[in-house]
Amino acid sequence: MLNSKKVLFVLAHYDDESFSAGTIKKMVDKGIEVSVLFICGLGKDLEDKRRDVCWENSELIGYTPYDLRYFDLTLNSLHNDVRIEMEQSVRDYIFSFAPDTVITNHGGDLHSDHRFVSKMVRIITRPSQHHNIKNLYECYVPGAAEYDEGTQMFNTVIDITSEFREKIKCLANYNLSTNGVSNLNGAEISSKYFGNLYGVGVAEIFKPIYCKG
Ligand SMILES: [Zn+2]
Repeated sequence: MLNSKKVLFVLAHYDDESFSAGTIKKMVDKGIEVSVLFICGLGKDLEDKRRDVCWENSELIGYTPYDLRYFDLTLNSLHNDVRIEMEQSVRDYIFSFAPDTVITNHGGDLHSDHRFVSKMVRIITRPSQHHNIKNLYECYVPGAAEYDEGTQMFNTVIDITSEFREKIKCLANYNLSTNGVSNLNGAEISSKYFGNLYGVGVAEIFKPIYCKG
């Protein structure tokens, strides 16, 4: 993952990226170009606030944010024409950015938006000779992955000890502006727990879907 040249995160919500902020910072510091595509809409006041924080955090961490602002996955069902348009927009951004590694939400998460985005990204990025994506991973969101298969398949471990301070700052920024909605405590505790589990200081974990040579 850290040998990539261009990494694209495709995520449902503003703040999903903050749970991988240590890894993103580590990638950027290594010279990897990182962009984060957010799918979810801005229908609620909370989303507006989160968007501001997300853009502010992008300057601290070094990723390029991009969003599809007019879609609202919090609706129980999307009309077919909206779904097709959305999938085309996601596909267009993925292939115009041309990443070699894509990281998306976990397909077994508790949150239905995460599952929706994850499945869509799996379909768009399935291995093909027509694109250069070599790796597809799913990222960990504390309190969302544990309810399905647990975290035992999240066996790609990134040591973020040096980047932990910036990660906590990103999460704290969300917490400050959204009255504690973001899972700051869960992220802090789980990063330390996975660091302990895998014998590094502090860690973030990812689930590999496919990794090509
Ligand atoms: Zn989310």
